[in-house]
Amino acid sequence: LDLNLAQIILDYAEIDTILLNSHLEILEWSEGAYIYAFQPLNKSILISECIPEIDTPQIKAQIEEVLLGREGRFLLQGLQRTLSHGEPLFFSLAIQSYTLPETKSPGLVCLLRDVTEAALLLQKVEELKQVKSGFLAIASHELRAPLTNVNGFLDLVLDGSFGTLQDEQRHYLTLASKNLSRMLTLTNDLLDVERLENGSIQIIEDNFDLLRLTRVLGASFESHLQKHNLELVVEAVAGEAFPVLADMSRIEQVISNLINNAIKYSQPTSTKIVIQFEKQGDKVIVNVIDEGIGIPEQDQPRLFHRFFRATNASSGGARGNGLGLSIVKAIIEQHNGSVWLTSIAGVGSTFSFSLPLAR
Ligand code: ADP
Repeated sequence: LDLNLAQIILDYAEIDTILLNSHLEILEWSEGAYIYAFQPLNKSILISECIPEIDTPQIKAQIEEVLLGREGRFLLQGLQRTLSHGEPLFFSLAIQSYTLPETKSPGLVCLLRDVTEAALLLQKVEELKQVKSGFLAIASHELRAPLTNVNGFLDLVLDGSFGTLQDEQRHYLTLASKNLSRMLTLTNDLLDVERLENGSIQIIEDNFDLLRLTRVLGASFESHLQKHNLELVVEAVAGEAFPVLADMSRIEQVISNLINNAIKYSQPTSTKIVIQFEKQGDKVIVNVIDEGIGIPEQDQPRLFHRFFRATNASSGGARGNGLGLSIVKAIIEQHNGSVWLTSIAGVGSTFSFSLPLAR
């Protein structure tokens, strides 16, 4: 490569260089390299005097490996300086072996790269994440109490506790109650996501049979399933139990969420939902298999991300906020399990999770 061109590339990439001999003494440096050095760059002084971060036996040993050609490159990231006007400078240092052009003897080249912009951006992103988390937590917390309160009163009115309702009154109050329930679900989901993600949720462990819990939960979906002409089949080897040590209400939330989705995203041709239980070593694997609309392949990698809904999610008019699966994932991972899916659009999906079995 033409030397001028090489310099243009290095300048553009904001990379400065310092050349060293095999004793790690400085030979030459590029114009901008001085900002990375703790003291003025000078010929024949040791590089560790200017970049003291490399002055550890471990790093020196690694650099030796590079010099001997046993390692291709040594990379040190996350280095920091304060510039003369007080601004921070973040940089990375790569050290590579290099044959010195004049003497043809082995040497090293230090490549110093200014990554301040990216580092500051990352810091900002982290700060914004904190602000957003705080905001969501406060907003959803503050919303939940009044919503629950209004919902309670609406239920009382609808129950006839304050007198008999006329049809029209009942109709509109029922609509209001449904919409309020949706708002409550969203606020609860938001609160859950935040708490699960920042680890402030408490897992109360209980010893229970996952299969039994699923059968009980399944029964509570009876009328919902009937409405969609669906049958729920729970499959496991007869007589086998699947004991887990887990937070029962959170695991209930996981299973309900998966059953709910399997119903919600069913299609007119769907006939059943199968929940399979199997043991794999010291784990239980649960597969929730549906014959629903499925998930297009390109959407699958992002399915467990917050607020993400597949492109076909609302094709059958199914409403949602895209939070359920991110909650499922967070709960299962907090229990040292994992979640995954396989799906073919138009054919169906299998949502699976694993949990450690209790001894
Ligand atoms: P929501 O259902 O409220 O949108 P979820 O987080 O539960 O949110 O699900 C995220 C998305 O994953 C859904 O919007 C839908 O696109 C897709 N999805 C989830 N479960 C199924 C399923 N059983 N069949 C097809 N798509 C599903």
